[in-house]
Amino acid sequence: MHVAVFSTKPYDKHFLDAANSVAGHDLSYFEFRLTPQTAVAVEGVQAVCAFVNDELDAKVLKVLSQRGVRLVVLRSAGFNNVDLEAARDLRMTVARVPEYSPYAVAEHTVTLILALNRKIHRAYARVREGNFALDGLLGFDLRGRTVGIVGTGRIGATLARIMTGFGCTILAFDPKRNPDCEAIGVRYVPLAALLAESDVISLHCPLTSETHYMIDASAIAQMRDGVMLINTSRGAVIDTRAVIKALKKGHIGSLGLDVYEEEADLFFEDLSDQVIQDDLFARLLSFPNVLITGHQAFFTAEAMHGIADTTMANITNYERCGRAIHEVSVERLA
Ligand code: NAD
Repeated sequence: MHVAVFSTKPYDKHFLDAANSVAGHDLSYFEFRLTPQTAVAVEGVQAVCAFVNDELDAKVLKVLSQRGVRLVVLRSAGFNNVDLEAARDLRMTVARVPEYSPYAVAEHTVTLILALNRKIHRAYARVREGNFALDGLLGFDLRGRTVGIVGTGRIGATLARIMTGFGCTILAFDPKRNPDCEAIGVRYVPLAALLAESDVISLHCPLTSETHYMIDASAIAQMRDGVMLINTSRGAVIDTRAVIKALKKGHIGSLGLDVYEEEADLFFEDLSDQVIQDDLFARLLSFPNVLITGHQAFFTAEAMHGIADTTMANITNYERCGRAIHEVSVERLA
């Protein structure tokens, strides 16, 4: 099948080409993102392959459909960037990679927790400057602390297992309880209790209309003073303005982000010789107790192999029988 692959970096091409050496599809790589402006570049393909910041709203899907695209394969677990109702109305199939390596994202989450707690980002810079003073680097033992996990699917449950090993008490909030978590002693509580009782809060739910700005000013007001907040899910689960206010007051003690609500204009590109125009993001960068990575939590060799293999399997299955293996649709979510 001829597939247009958007938002392709050399590392994407490397893993997709390896997976395709068996599958044998015709892949046309585009470095740019899929947007209303670039959708018209699609010519003579039956499928598009997209990543987290590609736009697949009703307008783009209509253009793709008019150009003969029947299948959208996402190289991600999240599908918040796709208008599934529009896809259904256009009779387009949407598929994703529901599972690759939950360890990649959970382990990156732990990396952010540990680095923020022990101020590794500051210590690294200090030592390189010959400054070996410890003032301002005081951390806390994780053992005995309470970690609140919002969303205990594949990634949240993996994080729960890791943090249990640190000797933490784990609280969780999820409309659907995970028996594997309950088996290791995770205690499910209402969101308000999790916010009030946790020393570290980590977000692992999908971005939906329900979770959009779940962490707003009123949620933050319920949190402990000095709480550590971590978001490796999707940027808009957090109201960035509210978080900045709480950081300025010292109510949020530290913030670790791998995602940002306006990341599409920033992440995955080298902008180091440009002036950042996003003032909210620039303000976040100015805090000593904020650590941001550019949506790299998924980025391990194992995860990239998994993403590429599942993406090819989705395309191959669709080509063979008109159905992708991991379809996502309004009906399936109902
Ligand atoms: P998953 O589907 O296995 O788990 C998601 C969990 O969230 C489910 O248990 C679900 O019941 C729960 N949930 C749904 N609505 C909720 C709500 N309102 N409140 C609390 N919990 C709710 O997904 P996963 O594989 O664990 O991934 C979680 C999210 O992580 C993805 O949706 C994606 O947005 C994000 N992600 C980020 C990266 C990255 O590189 N930063 C990589 C992969 C996934």
